[in-house]
Amino acid sequence: MKIIMLGAPGAGKGTQAKMIAEKYGLPHISTGDIFRANIKNGTELGKEAKEYMDKGLLVPDELTVRLLLDRVAKEDCKNGYVLDGFPRTIPQAEVLDAELEKLGEKVDYAVNVDVPDENIVNRMSGRRACLSCGATYHIVSIPPKKEGVCDVCGSELVLRDDDRPETVQNRLKVYHEQTQPLIDFYEKKGVLRSVDGTLPMEEVFGAITKILG
Ligand code: AMP
Repeated sequence: MKIIMLGAPGAGKGTQAKMIAEKYGLPHISTGDIFRANIKNGTELGKEAKEYMDKGLLVPDELTVRLLLDRVAKEDCKNGYVLDGFPRTIPQAEVLDAELEKLGEKVDYAVNVDVPDENIVNRMSGRRACLSCGATYHIVSIPPKKEGVCDVCGSELVLRDDDRPETVQNRLKVYHEQTQPLIDFYEKKGVLRSVDGTLPMEEVFGAITKILG
């Protein structure tokens, strides 16, 4: 099963993506996590991506697509995957479709986690991330067991640079201009399913599992 997660930054799609991946035994692929790992390891790719990420802008399609296609070609993806944060533009979606078509495959579901803009900025300021293992928390809705410490690996939790309020406004603008058109794109292909992302996390997950079966 090949699943794409859609939704504004902070809608909770990353959390849902990880839960789906675990339940259905699929790899969770987050382009944001891959970029952040590269930044942490000081790679050329990381240096290039950071320039854009810190401003709340998208990393150029060419770079992102190459990275994603390399990842989905790996052995663990042969039964499908959950894509979290890719595609974020129509050209990215078109390349993915074309590549899948070559293999006689297609995206099965594009799950849109729907949250209005007015809820987003508040949500993002409460978000905390572990830069070591990629786990994410929220100080109110998904708190770590010990404040400021990652449950998974024990590292320090931080507010990511791109989750700061000034960057969030920019990310929302970019989302509306470049990513939201994907809702129509997948609707036309008959694979779009929307869920109400303002509900508690477990209820959102319940709605998603009903759709995926
Ligand atoms: P995320 O963790 O998915 O919120 O992504 C964090 C940042 O990484 C985004 O704001 C973008 O700068 C960059 N990024 C992640 N995925 C993509 C993508 N598919 N296309 C372009 N930029 C991306």
